[in-house]
Amino acid sequence: MSDILENVKKRDPHEPEFHQAAEEVIDSIGPVLEKHPEFRKHKVLERLLEPERQISFKVSWVDDQGEVQVNRGYRVQMNSAIGPYKGGLRFHPSVYPGILKFLAFEQTFKNALTGLPMGGGKGGSDFNPKGKSDGEVMRFCQNFFMELNRHVGHRIDVPAGDIGVGSREIGYMFGTYKKLSNEFTGVLTGKGVGWGGSLLRTEATGYGLVYFSENMLNHINDSVKGKTCLVSGSGNVAQHTVEKLLHMGAKPISVSDSSGFIYDEEGIDEDKLAYIKELKNVKRGRIKEYAEKYSSAKYFASEKDQSSNPLWDIKADCAFPCATQNEVNAKDAENLVKNKVVLIGEGANMPLEADAAKIVIDSDILYSPGKASNAGGVATSGIEMMQNYMGSYWSKEQVDKKLQEIMKEIHTNCLQASEEYGFKNDYVKGANIYSFKKVARATIAQGII
Ligand code: NDP
Repeated sequence: MSDILENVKKRDPHEPEFHQAAEEVIDSIGPVLEKHPEFRKHKVLERLLEPERQISFKVSWVDDQGEVQVNRGYRVQMNSAIGPYKGGLRFHPSVYPGILKFLAFEQTFKNALTGLPMGGGKGGSDFNPKGKSDGEVMRFCQNFFMELNRHVGHRIDVPAGDIGVGSREIGYMFGTYKKLSNEFTGVLTGKGVGWGGSLLRTEATGYGLVYFSENMLNHINDSVKGKTCLVSGSGNVAQHTVEKLLHMGAKPISVSDSSGFIYDEEGIDEDKLAYIKELKNVKRGRIKEYAEKYSSAKYFASEKDQSSNPLWDIKADCAFPCATQNEVNAKDAENLVKNKVVLIGEGANMPLEADAAKIVIDSDILYSPGKASNAGGVATSGIEMMQNYMGSYWSKEQVDKKLQEIMKEIHTNCLQASEEYGFKNDYVKGANIYSFKKVARATIAQGII
């Protein structure tokens, strides 16, 4: 097993995030390979670790000053064993193939967990939408999709949003796709309601995270109700995590962005959440402005090279990291353990560094990996695809019911898989084992190609 990881590192030495994601899966599935020698024989793991296709392309566009700008665009089509490639697009200056490979690898397992026929993919660009005008974002999206259009399709590869890609960007890309292909199919998910989008798709990742957490707490005869909750991020996932926590009677007390976080001792209520949505989605402002508006809140600016994030040292019952990968380090994890947090639910993908995850797994905190607890977003993208295939719309109640069923099913499958292999209540191992077996069986059935 260690030779497989070594080989991955040797082939692509400058992709630490991909190595981290690969190592976590490899660590989990040892006993599965023992029990299923056919998986070893067919080199399933080695094959899952290599993208089926990786596309890199130039995106030229013109800014508001008339200057030509050049960015890089990517799509990693990781695995199509159980369905068309599916996964978001990220626009952020940190984007490079290693980040996208880690995300596409995680996505393959996440999509298998949903029970829907979706393979794994991820894409994006090092373009930074922050501070850009709507016109600049539109011109970038148009040029980006002019190339991506050659590689996607509603039965081939169906991208969605991620960091830096919300409904505005999806709209500009969908318009470009329609102009180029002269047809209206569900080539992207996260579309606006009224032009092919699904009700609740925007809310689904955050809502699903809270539903999953409620399942974890119910399993130990507890509930989200009344819990004080730390949330990081203030984008799509964080906003709808806060919203569902409020619906379920919990008390969210923090949100953040890449400049810092706010701690509101009195709790973020519906009105304050509406302010955050307006601030982040419409005005595209900074979270610091929350503390200027509400005297109950304190703002803490992020410091360069800080050894830990004081956000994770605030006393609370639950923690929901919903910003980005590796935002919680070992010291933060120690603080969460010291403060006797009951549950950590990952909204972001791989928000805990490997050392931090180890500390949490060795404690008695309930801990869900993103590939299980944030799968509600892609599951609802799958529901959007179904509606597009059928040419119809589901009601909000239908989508919400299906989302709750899927999150419950993922919870049950993770627990059963972890128990079957002797790891009691280990959601990380359970998620990896259940999804690996599913993708492995499909891989073997389809032959060596
Ligand atoms: P958004 O772009 O809507 O929001 C991202 C938030 O995280 C912003 O508050 C942003 O702050 C902050 N952030 C981003 N990068 C960093 C960084 N390097 N350091 C600190 N803060 C940062 O993205 P989403 O809410 O959609 O995505 C958040 C996470 O959830 C990601 O890990 C994504 O992969 C994952 N996810 C998203 C899904 C979805 O449906 N959207 C589905 C499943 C997972 P700032 O504004 O300053 O950049």
